[in-house]
Amino acid sequence: MPIHYDYIAIGGGSGGLATAQRAAEYGARVAVIQPGRLGGTCVNVGCVPKKLTWTAAMLAHAAEDARGYGFDLTVHGHDWGRLKAGRDAFVARLNGIYAANLEKQKVDWLDGTARFLDAHTLIVGGEVLTAPHIAIATGGAPSVPDIPGAALGITSDGFFELPSRPRSVAVIGSGYVAVELAGAFAALGAKVSLFIRHDRVLRSFDLMLSTALMRAMGADGITLVAGAIPAALKATESGTELTLADGRAFEGFDCVLFAIGRSPLSASLDLARAGVALYDDGVVITDKFQNTNVAGIYAIGDVTGREALTPVAIAAGRRLADRLFGGQAERFLDYALTPTVVFSHPPLGTVGLSEAAARELHGAAVKVYTAEFTPMYYALTETKRGAEMKLVCVGDEERIVGLHIIGQGADEMLQGFAVAVKMGATKRDFDDTIAIHPTVAEELVTMR
Ligand code: NDP
Repeated sequence: MPIHYDYIAIGGGSGGLATAQRAAEYGARVAVIQPGRLGGTCVNVGCVPKKLTWTAAMLAHAAEDARGYGFDLTVHGHDWGRLKAGRDAFVARLNGIYAANLEKQKVDWLDGTARFLDAHTLIVGGEVLTAPHIAIATGGAPSVPDIPGAALGITSDGFFELPSRPRSVAVIGSGYVAVELAGAFAALGAKVSLFIRHDRVLRSFDLMLSTALMRAMGADGITLVAGAIPAALKATESGTELTLADGRAFEGFDCVLFAIGRSPLSASLDLARAGVALYDDGVVITDKFQNTNVAGIYAIGDVTGREALTPVAIAAGRRLADRLFGGQAERFLDYALTPTVVFSHPPLGTVGLSEAAARELHGAAVKVYTAEFTPMYYALTETKRGAEMKLVCVGDEERIVGLHIIGQGADEMLQGFAVAVKMGATKRDFDDTIAIHPTVAEELVTMR
C-alpha cells in the first residue's frame, strides 16, 4: 500500500527542510526524503564547516595583529586535527537538531534515495509514496574536470575530510569556493597556488572587488597563476604535478583542490518517468513560482541553477509552501537584489549591479562613488589590510543599484545596507544617515 502525503520534499538540505517545515506549519502531512544526514551542502560540506574554518583563519591573522596591540603572543603552530574534530562535532550536533525539529513538526524523514515512478509517485527503498505536490530539492555536487588524473584531486567535499593541513596546495578555480579555501589554507600555513582560467577571480563581481581581492591574496603569499586551464594531474615522487593546456607544468603539490563550480543532482531521480524537463546540464527548469513543466512538481535551490545560496533556497522553499498550503496564491521569490558575501581575507560583500552591468543597462545615467582606506584596526598592526567600497547610482535621484565592499567587517556590514538598497535607497538617503564613528561602515554614508 502506498503511503500518501500532502507534500514530499526530495532532499533534506536548506531548501527541502524549509519548504517541508513551512508546509507542516500550515497543517500539511509532509515527508522529507534524504539519505544519511540532514542539512545538505550548507550544514555538512558548505557554509557551516567553511565558516568555522574561516574563523580559524581569521584568528591566525588576529594572533599576528595582536602583537601590535602589546600582546606578547607566540603561536606554536595550528592543530588542524583539533579544528576538524570540533567542526565535525558541531556539524553532527546540527544534524541531530535538524532531525529533532522534523520530529517536533511531525514531518516524516525517510532515510533513502527517491526515484519517480510517475508524476505523483515515488519509490524510496521498498516504500512507495504518493503526493499531489512534490518538491525537488536535491541540490548539487562539486564538479570535477574531465582530465587525466583528475582522481588525484579533491573538491570542497574532500577539503572537510583532510586529516591534516597539506604543505603545498594547488587550488583550481576562480569562484567563491576557490578564493575562500585558498585563503583558509594560506592563513593556516599552507603554501598555496591558485590557478585561474582567465585573468581574475570572481569575474561576475564588480571589478573593484576582484582586483582588491587579488591584491590581498598576493600580499598573503598566495601565488596566482592566470590563463590556467587544467589539462592533467600526475603522481610523481615529489607529489602531484599539474599540467596546464598551454604546456606549463607545476609540481610538488600534496593537495590539488578543484573548485570549478557545481552540478545539479538530478540524474538519479528518473525524472523522465514523471516527464519533468531539464536543461542539458541536468538543471531542473522552473518558472518564477518554482513550478516545473509538470503540474504538482516543483524545484527549489541549487538544482534549479539559480543563485546557489542557502538563504535563497530557504526563501524559495518557504514561499512555495506559503503558496501551496498557506493560501498565498501569488507568493514567489524575487531573485533580484540578492546580497551575497564571500568569506575571503578580507571578506567581501555585494548587492545589486556591478558598475559594468549598470553601465550596460543605464549608460550615462550611472554615477559611481568609491572609497579606499585602511581601517583603524590596522593602525597598530604590522600587516595592513585595505578596504574598498563602491556605490553604483542611477539617474538624477541617484538611486543605489549596486553596493560593493571589501574589507574588515564586510561580511556583517552588508545585511543592513542590503535592506536599504532593496527598499530603493538613494545616495541622499545614505548622506542623510548619521555616521557611526569610528567604524569601517561609516565610509558608506560619507562618500563624496
Ligand atoms: P563558482 O560558480 O562560484 O565558480 C567556479 C568558477 O570556476 C567559474 O566561475 C569559472 O570561472 C571557473 N571554472 C569553471 N570551469 C572551470 C574549469 N574547467 N577549469 C578551471 N576553472 C573553471 O563555483 P564554486 O564551486 O566556487 O561555488 C559554487 C556555488 O556555491 C557558488 O556559485 C555560490 O553560489 C555557492 N557558494 C557560496 C558561498 C558563499 O555564499 N560565501 C561559498 C561557497 C559557495 P572563470 O570563468 O573565471 O574561469
